[in-house]
Amino acid sequence: MSDSEMVVECRNCGEDIPTTATRCPQCDARVTTTPWGIGLAVFGLLVALGFVYGHFAGYILDNWQAGVAAGVFISLMGGRLYWIRRQKLANARPR
Ligand SMILES: [Zn+2]
Repeated sequence: MSDSEMVVECRNCGEDIPTTATRCPQCDARVTTTPWGIGLAVFGLLVALGFVYGHFAGYILDNWQAGVAAGVFISLMGGRLYWIRRQKLANARPR
């Protein structure tokens, strides 16, 4: 069974939405089944590591902790999106 044949329920109007859709076709509500959460998590991690490396390599001396914090925050946001998607897909059912 392919991913596109699975549907989840819209939390706004209750309509069946394909797991591949990012918006409800019925009411246009956003659904968080987008797969880029993991990409965001990796990006945030790279930003955080970049600031850590930049600091210890002597490029970034001021406010590098803020950069690390921002990177970690982005990473956590991405991780959360990925987790929501996983939960949604776990609740998906055949159309
Ligand atoms: Zn809807």
